[in-house]
Amino acid sequence: MRPKKHLGQHFLVDGAVAARIAQVVTEGSSQNGPLYILEIGPGTGALTAALVDLRADVTALEIDPDLVAVLRTIPGLAAARIVQADALAFDYQSYAEERRWRVTGNLPYNIATPLLLRLALMPHGPEELIVMIQKDVAQRLAAKAATPAYGSLTLAIQYMMRVERLFSLGPQVFYPRPKVDSTVVRLTRYAEPPVKVRDPSFLLQVTRAAFAYRRKTLANSLHLAINIERARTAAALRSIGLQPEIRGEELELAQFAALADTLQR
Ligand code: SAM
Repeated sequence: MRPKKHLGQHFLVDGAVAARIAQVVTEGSSQNGPLYILEIGPGTGALTAALVDLRADVTALEIDPDLVAVLRTIPGLAAARIVQADALAFDYQSYAEERRWRVTGNLPYNIATPLLLRLALMPHGPEELIVMIQKDVAQRLAAKAATPAYGSLTLAIQYMMRVERLFSLGPQVFYPRPKVDSTVVRLTRYAEPPVKVRDPSFLLQVTRAAFAYRRKTLANSLHLAINIERARTAAALRSIGLQPEIRGEELELAQFAALADTLQR
């Protein structure tokens, strides 16, 4: 079978890497009751097999019917549920129910960002995501304020999840070789978000708007993106001890939370 470029098919061909990821995914799985693993994009099943070897309860979502047919014939994967589905359209809420669950996968590049946002922000979301993503997306997830990789993705994820970059992988562990390096990250859901804010959805709206016009001041960007008067933002910034001409990328998550609360007063 030829790998399909439009589906981001770069298959993991290094069993040791698959085993290492599976180990992290199943860490502590015997504590706190049964653990369910949802894998996104199993491809040719390297990670799926490593998870099954560790006796994990695996459901794997694969969009490509040709791969689904192959996966269902592999004896070593008999214990895994292979579901043909588009990971962007899947009903995660029904899957989650009251379960304790984690997500893993070598994510197709084109869906990684919307998928991570959705899984991080959903109610009863996974307690952990251990995923292989492009190195530069991993940098955005883990970024600190006032760096080029910092943005609304960073803030939305860091509001819900602790971000760790575990290890990076060169193109040689995949077939066909991708043009970029990959990083395995672990996102761990906070029991309580690290900052308090009255209206989380307004916080996320403000952080998105703050980076909509990256080169402009925060007050200008909020005005252009969500029509908040510049003077109102400037006054709110002053009242929390920040310069009115500051740019969005200079604010930490806690400062965005304070700004959102002040703007809503
Ligand atoms: N995890 C596999 C491995 O390591 O060998 C393959 C990873 S490959 C980067 C991405 C996989 O996701 C492919 O098998 C592709 O068919 C599948 N895929 C792409 N878009 C998808 C989507 N929207 N929903 C589910 N699977 C998708």
